[in-house]
Amino acid sequence: MNDQAHRTKVPVYANKIMSASIPYYEIPEDSMAPRIAHQVIIDEMNLDGNPMLNMASFVCTYMDEYGEDLILKGSRKNFIDLDEYAITYSMQMRCVNMIARLFNAPLSAKEEATGTSCIGSSEAIMLAGLALKWKWRERRRKAGLSYDKPNLVMGSNVQVCWHKFCMYFDVERRESPMSTDCLVLTPERAKPLLDENTIGICIILGSTYNGEFEDVKGIHEMLEEYNKEHNLEIPIHVDAASGGFIAPFLNPDLVWDFRLPLVKSINTSGHKFGLVYPGVGWALWRERKDLPDDLIFHVNYLGGDQATFTFNFSKPAGQIVAQYYQLIRLGKSGYRSILETGMKNAEYLRDGLREMGLFDIVDKAHMPLVAFSLKDNHAKYSLFDVQDRLKACGWIVPAYRCPIESKEFIVSRVVVKQNMTRHMCDMLIKDVKNAISSLEEETKLMGPTPTSTAYTDEKAHHFWQLISKAIVKGDIGHRFRAERTHGVC
Ligand SMILES: *Cc1c(COP(=O)(O)O)cnc(C)c1O
Repeated sequence: MNDQAHRTKVPVYANKIMSASIPYYEIPEDSMAPRIAHQVIIDEMNLDGNPMLNMASFVCTYMDEYGEDLILKGSRKNFIDLDEYAITYSMQMRCVNMIARLFNAPLSAKEEATGTSCIGSSEAIMLAGLALKWKWRERRRKAGLSYDKPNLVMGSNVQVCWHKFCMYFDVERRESPMSTDCLVLTPERAKPLLDENTIGICIILGSTYNGEFEDVKGIHEMLEEYNKEHNLEIPIHVDAASGGFIAPFLNPDLVWDFRLPLVKSINTSGHKFGLVYPGVGWALWRERKDLPDDLIFHVNYLGGDQATFTFNFSKPAGQIVAQYYQLIRLGKSGYRSILETGMKNAEYLRDGLREMGLFDIVDKAHMPLVAFSLKDNHAKYSLFDVQDRLKACGWIVPAYRCPIESKEFIVSRVVVKQNMTRHMCDMLIKDVKNAISSLEEETKLMGPTPTSTAYTDEKAHHFWQLISKAIVKGDIGHRFRAERTHGVC
C-alpha cells in the first residue's frame, strides 16, 4: 500500500503512527492525517481529570450545543477588529450594559454603561486596580501631595490575582489577617489599615476559600465615615468574580453593588456563574468618569478609530457571543432557577457531610458551594488524604491551607455546578464515607498520615517500621502518593 492509501484505508488504530513515537518537544518532520492526530490527542487528553467531576473550580464546565456552536463560530473572529466585526462589538456592549444594569449602575434608560469584556476576572482586576491607582494619583497631584506610596486594603482571603496586581503595579498590599472563626474582611479589620495613600478597598463577593460574601454595605458605612473624618475619597472595588452572577438573582435585596456610592468598579467572571466556558470576564465602572482617560488607547490601524483598554489586543470573539447567548437565552429567570437548583443540591450535600459528624461546615450558604474542615479531634489524617482518596474515584475535591498565621487550617471545597445532580451528591457522600473508613483503618494500623497534625518524628519512625507490614497487606500506594505530593519525605 502506498502512503496515501495507507492513510485513508487503514483503521485508525492500525495506523503506523499509533505505535511510533511522536517527538514531544520537536515539530515532526512529516505530516499525519488529521483524524489520526486528532485521535492521538483525544486519547491523551483522557488522562486529564474529568472536568465534569472538577468540584474544585468555579469555572463553567457545561454549555448546551447552541452555546458551544457560537463559541466555535465566534472564535473565527478576532474581537479587536471592532470595525470589521461591528455586530460582535455591539453584542459585547449589550452584555456590558446588561451586566452594569444588573449591578444597578446609575444609568438613564438610554445611557451607555462603562465597561469591557476581558479574558477573565484577573484581567478585569488589573484594569480596575490601575484605574484606582490613577484616580488616587490624580487626587494627590492636584492637592500638591506626594504620590509615591500607594497601598490597597484587602483581606488575606483574596484571590492570587490581587497579589499579582500589587506586585506588577507597585502597590503596597495591606492585608488583614483571618481567623478560623471569620475567614473574610470586616469593617473592623479594614479600618486600621486605611490611610491617605489607600487607593481603594477590595471587597469580595464570594470568597475563594469558603464562598462567603463580605459585608460590602458594612465596610461601605465604615469607609464613608472614615472618608468624612479624614477628608479623603477612598473608593471601593468589589471583586464579584463568582458572586456577581449569583447575588442579583438569589438575593436582589442584598445591597453590595453600584447602589453604594463608593463602589466605583466591579469585576465578574462570565466563565464562572455567568455560565460560559473559560475565557471571559467583565470589568465595569460606576460612571464614565471613574475610568481615567489616559488608560484608554486609540488605534486606527484596522480602519476607523478604536478605543481599547484591555491588556490583550487580539482575542477570540466566541466567548463574548456565547455570553450574549446565555444572557438572552436564560434570562433572569433561567439564571435564578439554575442557581436555586444548585443551592438545593449544595444544602443536601452540606447536610450529608454534617451528618457524618466529622466535619465543621465553614461556608455561609451564600452560593452553591460547600466548604468544610475536619473537626479538631480528627488529627490522624487530613483533608489532603481525603482529597487523594476521592481522586482515586474520579472526584476532584481540593484541600487547601487557609492563610491563617500560627494555625494550620485546612479546608475542602465543593462547588456545586449545574451538572452536580442529586444522584451525584449521593455518590460523593458515599465516596467521602468510604474514604473516611479506609483512612480510619489505615491509621489504626500505621499511625497518623504524613499530612495530619498528629504526625511527628516519632510517628514517622513508627511509620517506617510499619511500612513492611503494609507492603505485605498490599495497601501502601496511597501513603506513598501522599508523601510525594506533600513533600513530607
Ligand atoms: C476566580 C476568581 C478570581 C480570578 O478570576 P479569573 O476569572 O479566573 O481570572 C478573582 N477573584 C475571585 C474572588 C475569584 O473567585
